[in-house]
Amino acid sequence: MPLYEYELCEGDCVACGGKFTLRRPIDAPPLKVCPACRRPVRKLISSFSSPIKTKPVSFSDAKKAGFTVLKRLGKGEYERQ
Ligand SMILES: [Zn+2]
Repeated sequence: MPLYEYELCEGDCVACGGKFTLRRPIDAPPLKVCPACRRPVRKLISSFSSPIKTKPVSFSDAKKAGFTVLKRLGKGEYERQ
């Protein structure tokens, strides 16, 4: 199952910390709310959630790119609110 990353559209959540990851079946309906606090969430872009890409070009590149993307998205989105 692919790993998806979500964050709250607004507000804070003690249960999930405002950002969390879930493994879900590829054919599961989109997650609309946090399973813990029921606040609206949005899915973050993750380089590891694509079912097409079975193997990264290079492990170090994928790791570096993934870490940078996740860090920037999470911090930027959070600070705007
Ligand atoms: Zn929550």
